Amino acid sequence: MLNEKQVVFLGGDARQLEVIKSFIQLGAHVTLIGFDNLQTPFSGASQKDLTVEVLAKADILILPIVGTDEKGLINSVFTSKTLLLLDEHISSLPNHCIVFAGIARSYLKELCLRHDVALMELMERDDVAIYNSIPTVEGALMMAIQNTDFTIHGSVCAVLGLGRVGLSLARTLDAIGANVTVGVRSSADYARVFEMGLTPFYTEALKEHLQHANLIFNTIPTKILDASVLAQVPQDVVIIDLASKPGGVDYTYTEKRGMKAILAPSLPGIVAPKTAGKILARIITQLMTEELAKEGNM
Ligand code: NAP
Repeated sequence: MLNEKQVVFLGGDARQLEVIKSFIQLGAHVTLIGFDNLQTPFSGASQKDLTVEVLAKADILILPIVGTDEKGLINSVFTSKTLLLLDEHISSLPNHCIVFAGIARSYLKELCLRHDVALMELMERDDVAIYNSIPTVEGALMMAIQNTDFTIHGSVCAVLGLGRVGLSLARTLDAIGANVTVGVRSSADYARVFEMGLTPFYTEALKEHLQHANLIFNTIPTKILDASVLAQVPQDVVIIDLASKPGGVDYTYTEKRGMKAILAPSLPGIVAPKTAGKILARIITQLMTEELAKEGNM
């Protein structure tokens, strides 16, 4: 189906290996940038440096799940080289090229907008985010187990946010016997938490609802656990911050007070790269099939 399509992978972690594998199987011409330290190189893919000449031939450019940072830096666990995605790289892409990333910071969004390049943020899609919440929750449990000397069962667990991750997490914690409270901001989410048999509270009254927590799992991507809230939280609480960087915790304050607070990004890539990669591979190939069908190429 993807015969003759030039697919360029630029950086990433172990999740990307599944995606690469599936594109090779689908017959695409795969070029890898930032994968020079791969233990088992792929037959059926060529390794290149990051140059405008390579990108000028790309039909599809696949970036890491976390996209770039605000200066264009691309993370790759498979190279020691610095990968910097610059204006000249995006401007060299053909007009029809589609750029995929899990999430895109404003740097990447602005570059693509400036050069009229289509950008697909996979984690913006509900289906991807819901599937991805499965390995994320398993990773959150792993972090909690590694950082506590008590069982989750019987402990008081506060989950902040009832989005795609928060909902899966609250349900899982309940299933393993935790006493789960959930901080939300809408009355609909409050009702949903009540319906689930858990204890809802409003995040605007956060300070009053964390006093008995043993574990706090934050999924809200804003600094919700600021110094004024943390001052009301037991000193020996363990905070697992799942929100994307910079997270939702005042880490200067937790360090000063000797509290255990851990920013835990990219858990699917750590605990289940194969599953997480398969989720991405499935959705990217599905999207490409739809695009090609629209263009009448199928
Ligand atoms: P989501 O579905 O958008 O959920 C976010 C939740 O936060 C929603 O319940 C939202 O409430 C709430 N929220 C946002 N701003 C708020 C505020 N100012 N006050 C109170 N509540 C607020 O996102 P998600 O897919 O669950 O992901 C949550 C975070 O985890 C994101 O930062 C995502 O990038 C990250 N993530 C991390 C990992 C990891 O491995 N650590 C994996 C997946 C995702 P409303 O619905 O009322 O807006």
